[in-house]
Amino acid sequence: MPYGFLGKIIRINLTDSMVKIEKPGEAFYRAYMGGKGFITYYLLKELPAGINPLGPENKIIFATGILTGVPIPAMPRFAVGAKSPLTGGYGQSEAGGYWGPELKRAGYDGIVIEGKSPKPVYINIKDDDIQIRDASHIWGKDTGEAQDLIRAELGDDKVRIAQIGPGGENLVRYACILNELKHANGRNGLGAVMGSKNLKAIAVRGTKDIPFADGDKIKEIRKKCLDIYMEYPLSRSLYELGTSGLVKAINAGGILPTKNFKYGEFEGADKISGETIAQTILKRREGCYACPIRCKRAVQIEREDFRVDINYGGPEYETVVAFGSLCEIADMEVIAKANEMCNRYGIDTISTGSSIAFAMECYENGILTKEDLDGIELTFGNSDAVLKLIEKIAKREGIGNLLADGTARAAQKIGKGSEKYSMNVKGQELAMHDPRGKVGIGMGYALSETGADHMVVPHDTLLAQEGIVVDSVAPLGITEPLDPLDLSWKKVRMFVYLQQWWSFLNMAGVCDFGPAPRGCIPVMDVVNLVRATTGWDTSLWELMKAGERTINMARIYNLREGLTAEDDILPERLFEPLLNGRLKGTAIPKDEFYEAISIYYSMMGWNDKGVPSKGKLLELNLEYCI
Ligand code: SF4
Repeated sequence: MPYGFLGKIIRINLTDSMVKIEKPGEAFYRAYMGGKGFITYYLLKELPAGINPLGPENKIIFATGILTGVPIPAMPRFAVGAKSPLTGGYGQSEAGGYWGPELKRAGYDGIVIEGKSPKPVYINIKDDDIQIRDASHIWGKDTGEAQDLIRAELGDDKVRIAQIGPGGENLVRYACILNELKHANGRNGLGAVMGSKNLKAIAVRGTKDIPFADGDKIKEIRKKCLDIYMEYPLSRSLYELGTSGLVKAINAGGILPTKNFKYGEFEGADKISGETIAQTILKRREGCYACPIRCKRAVQIEREDFRVDINYGGPEYETVVAFGSLCEIADMEVIAKANEMCNRYGIDTISTGSSIAFAMECYENGILTKEDLDGIELTFGNSDAVLKLIEKIAKREGIGNLLADGTARAAQKIGKGSEKYSMNVKGQELAMHDPRGKVGIGMGYALSETGADHMVVPHDTLLAQEGIVVDSVAPLGITEPLDPLDLSWKKVRMFVYLQQWWSFLNMAGVCDFGPAPRGCIPVMDVVNLVRATTGWDTSLWELMKAGERTINMARIYNLREGLTAEDDILPERLFEPLLNGRLKGTAIPKDEFYEAISIYYSMMGWNDKGVPSKGKLLELNLEYCI
């Protein structure tokens, strides 16, 4: 009997409404472990090269991990993957909440969805009963209305629903998937892939227990976590102020993305901080399955002329900055509204904010005119304009239709030098972290298989001083702090090890805020947890190798789709000096940066074009990738 996983994957073909249950066997789970591991496997094995990401040949995979649903802090996650309509390459995004554990309680580790339904549908999974149901009456509804309608129809107000909004239906290339209206698989446009299949939602209800090999050991590790997490400064701060508790510190450090990454310091930073949320619009802290860190915020505004619905949660750090300093908006109420609208329409807050900031800079430089912008005075700091544009993007109306394809495609169409204002890597907009003050994040942006992604490795600033955080990663072979601006081979080595660790956490269904170095759970306790959960006689070495395996698989997928070493780059603006703040005058040294990328290739066993060697692929049991 399997432990930690259920041994069953649902396969649904929407073209002919066929539902099958597949049992891939334990060797599959041990090699790929879930999340990114499952997704890379299915995309490489089953997708022909060069398909249209918004065509019926694309498949979308929902994948839990071996630790999803273990009752320990920070184990709620699942990943969704497909060929990305935003980057044209490997697409993946993770979310927390309750949906992943619920799928496992229904008896399944994942879902592979293929084909295209002739009409709008949603999938309902209740333990062994799997139905494809008509969604014609729900299509076009925003996420809140759709959730209410599905729950009423199923007669179950606790059913967990992962769904798209009008943004996904309208194929916005950065449409997201939301569960519980607020936990987002935000990036890479996977909501548009669901939309292209006429798939509105997946509702899940499970009543079974997830089997664990050693429940007593899990309880012991849980007690240890609960005893220490509030003592750990990073976890405590997440609980107290949420992720936007970082705004003031990042601004003081001179790397708060401001005015489309032109500046690193924002004079309105205090007004968009976690402290301001706590003192003004915060109604309660929220979190994910079995996680006491409760880093999420629920905010509410109920004035007659201005409302923000608490059911859509509240803005996290990325959202606060994307609609705040990036667009020079120093108004938390407007940011909260922008967050609510994005969750209502089902579009990614990072790419939406970045697309608006891009258009603002084009307007400031005379590249876009008021006429091009449907009469909107799109100056930085114009709150009304931001809210109008969110709606236009989700509905693909007017200028919104152009921006809904992402800044890289928009810049190609606009021309006139607008490319330099598109802050993207591989077509995906940068997250809200300026690598001019933490260069490892720049490596993450450049090397991530999903385009600019801030969740590839822990950020350099975390590992810049001696102490508890650096001590926590000694089992990974990292024993000395490094300056955030260090780009030596030592930083590359740190990056390689941490990338493998975070890749494994992603596969396992673990939130990065739980384990070391970002959280309080020691590395070796994660290993012990995998042993207790699965019953496998495993080791840190095996888990790191699993992480390395999927990095290589995603790389092979991208190479197959035409992405090359020439795409492992950063926007030129990041090689230009910051114009204000503590790091005024600092830029990423270009030659050193690309030398670090080249050292990374060789440390990974890749050639100078970033292609994994035959030996490396064989070592990782990836003979089918050669
Ligand atoms: S730390 Fe926050 S995001 Fe992570 S599992 Fe806990 S509540 Fe969810």
